[in-house]
Amino acid sequence: MIDSILSINLTDYSYEVESREDLIERWIGGIGLATQLFKERMKDLKADPLSEKNVIVFAIGPFTPAYPYASKTVSVFKSPLTNEFGESHGGGRTAMAIASAGYSAIVIEGVSDKPVYVVIDGEKVYFKDGRSLKGIRDSLILARILAEIEKGRGIRSIIRAGYAGERLVRFACITTETYRHFGRLGLGAVFGSKNLLALVVMGKKSYKTDNPRLYREVYKEIYRLGVESDAMRKYHLIGTAENVLPLNEMRALPVKNLTEFQTECEDISGETLAETRLGRRIACSHCPTACIHIATLREEYEEEKYFYKTLMIGYDYELIYALGSMIGVTEKDSLLRLIHKVESYGLDAISTGVCLAWATEAFKRGIIDVDETLTPLDFGDWRAYMEAIDNLVFQPNEFYRSLAKGVRFASQKYGGQEFALAIAGNEIPGYNTGFSVYFGLLIGMRHSHLDNAGYSLDQKHPDLKPENAVERLVREEMWRQVLSSLVVCFFSRNIYTPQLVSKAFNALAIEMSEDELIKKGEEIYMEKLKLKKEMGYKPSVGDIPERILNISTPAGKLNEKRFETALEYYMQEYWERF
Ligand code: SF4
Repeated sequence: MIDSILSINLTDYSYEVESREDLIERWIGGIGLATQLFKERMKDLKADPLSEKNVIVFAIGPFTPAYPYASKTVSVFKSPLTNEFGESHGGGRTAMAIASAGYSAIVIEGVSDKPVYVVIDGEKVYFKDGRSLKGIRDSLILARILAEIEKGRGIRSIIRAGYAGERLVRFACITTETYRHFGRLGLGAVFGSKNLLALVVMGKKSYKTDNPRLYREVYKEIYRLGVESDAMRKYHLIGTAENVLPLNEMRALPVKNLTEFQTECEDISGETLAETRLGRRIACSHCPTACIHIATLREEYEEEKYFYKTLMIGYDYELIYALGSMIGVTEKDSLLRLIHKVESYGLDAISTGVCLAWATEAFKRGIIDVDETLTPLDFGDWRAYMEAIDNLVFQPNEFYRSLAKGVRFASQKYGGQEFALAIAGNEIPGYNTGFSVYFGLLIGMRHSHLDNAGYSLDQKHPDLKPENAVERLVREEMWRQVLSSLVVCFFSRNIYTPQLVSKAFNALAIEMSEDELIKKGEEIYMEKLKLKKEMGYKPSVGDIPERILNISTPAGKLNEKRFETALEYYMQEYWERF
């Protein structure tokens, strides 16, 4: 296993490498390792996330250089959006680039006194003056310039914050390569606060196993399961955008700030986008599925007739929900323009869409007016949303400065908290499937649907008693700590069963039984829970907006009592035990 950790200090432009076999043996890698490094280095857990005290950790896992779908990198930081534990996973080439550079994790501390980007080329680290690159409004252009001036074409990863990060939008994301992100919870703003524009990572290390025969056997098994699986084929063909029509059909698609659950969405469905706009599919490193769908949109230049630019725009279900149905935009090219704008700035799309949806409802109810929004907002009016997104980033007035801190913050200041759709401060994803998804967001470490997949539990078991739902959500999240420590793509979770993970470890000459794996998942979960507690978080039904507490879902109408019963059980069985 790779056991080297690279620590970078932006304050004095220093770096050092150390071996941390102790941590890797104990905590696997990925989220297990990143959590421990964060605990060690983040001296003041109550510190302002945008101060120099915040620490960023990127970590890969033991499977990264070895197996298909081990394509993700975990990042950990204190979130400027929720003010507690921040975790985000990104794909692209980043994980392989970190492995090729020879590291299991990269820790970033301090703050640079001028804009800087950092090049990690194997054992060497270069701090590069980024003053001429600050203020570039399109993250794609920043990446293109870095690609031109830095070496490593084909092996490097370019991980950068966009202009939204520079402007400290609390839900700014990090983009890696062109179409992958460390989204949710505001890592882009943390980069911005550190005056860090980008990381460029590359190296030439390769790895060998002592047991090539068994390794080849396991590799082939994982590969075959991937390419022959119907589920993975679905990700390749239409991608997660395939969810649009079924969720709409079952009245689980959030529409117009969750005031409706069904809409005319044929034109923004995965099927229509694939048939009419799909230009290509791409994959993260060593992934045989290639689920990343890229649409082409031809736009005429305003000043010149018959002059066109062709935009290549990545899309998936969450983007279609957040910048489509949630704000009433149901025409594909308008949706793609909004996605492109959000992508160019480096904004988290889910948070942006939910903020815009809340602002629209607040505007229509007269809670705020055009003095605040600067343009009249109405569901479906994509042109107004293009302006509003510019305003979110440039923050020309107090209203947009507040909205750039997230929907919870803005609604506390202006009103409309009952329909500000964030749970524990994180804007909600697009699944109005039932009780488990919303309760899962409350107790999940990231307050994300990816923590424990409550949306899936709702569809398979809509009638679970609250206590049983809690048990299933927590067990799922515990196992996901193992997957996040390896670090494999969650789309391959049905391939990476405990049995196969144990066998894959054996092929790398590491003994790890299924029971041990399950125990490690529980331990990592508990470590994160303790950290959240120390950062001041405590789940409460009050963290769920009123609109959700009594909402209609395909699994029946929700009620507050059910949330209270589930929370009481969760606090007793998990939260208060540690
Ligand atoms: S399935 Fe998609 S997100 Fe997952 S590793 Fe492959 S290309 Fe990346």
